[in-house]
Amino acid sequence: MTIKEFVFNPFMENTYVLYDETGEAVIVDAGCLYPEEQEQIRQYIDYAQLKLKYVLNTHLHLDHQFGNAFLARTYGVMPMAHEGDAVMAGDIARQAAAFGIPVHVEDCALGGFLSDGQKLRAGNLEIEVIHTPGHSKGGVCFYIPSEKVVFAGDTLFQNSIGRTDLPGGNHAELINSIRKRLFVLPDETIVHTGHGESTTIGDEKSYNPYL
Ligand SMILES: [Zn+2]
Ligand SMILES: [Zn+2]
Repeated sequence: MTIKEFVFNPFMENTYVLYDETGEAVIVDAGCLYPEEQEQIRQYIDYAQLKLKYVLNTHLHLDHQFGNAFLARTYGVMPMAHEGDAVMAGDIARQAAAFGIPVHVEDCALGGFLSDGQKLRAGNLEIEVIHTPGHSKGGVCFYIPSEKVVFAGDTLFQNSIGRTDLPGGNHAELINSIRKRLFVLPDETIVHTGHGESTTIGDEKSYNPYL
C-alpha cells in the first residue's frame, strides 16, 4: 500500500491518499481548502493514475472536510462519515465563524454513513471502521489490519490525545475509545494522525501508561 500525506489548510490538517497496486484510491479527511491545495490533490491523482473510490471522514470538523465538495464535483465521489457527526456535514461556515476565521467554501452533503465494524474494500485493501467517539460524537478510525496501520483522525496524536472541548466532545468517552478500541490493536500498528507526526500504538501506550 502507498500512503501519500498532505498537510493542508490553516489548521495544518493531515490529508491521506491511500491505494494499492490496483490504483483504487481512498482519501481520508480531504482538508484541501485553497485552490492550490485542491490542485495538488488533483495532480497527484493524475500522476499516480488513481481511480478515487472513497472519500472517508474520521470526523466532520471543518478542517477535515474542506475538500469534500471539490472531490464530489471533480470525481463524483461523495464523502462518508459516521451518523454521529452528520449534524456537522454542510456546516463549514458556522464552524469557521466559531473559530473566527473567514472561509468561503462550498458545503457538501454526505453520500452515506459509516458504522462501527463496517468493512470497506478498495483494490485489495480492507478498511475496517472503528467508532471512537469522544473528540466528536461520530469520530471513527480507519484500521487496515493487513498493513498494520490505523488512521486516527483527532482521537490520538503523537504524545497527546484529542481535545474534547468542542461541541459533541466528551473526555470520558475519548479515554474509553482510546483504551478499549485503539490500545487493543497490536503495538506495532502505525497511527496516522489528523495533525502532526505519525506514531505507533505501542509508543502511545508507553507514553500514556495511566490509560
Ligand atoms: Zn477535530
Ligand atoms: Zn483536526
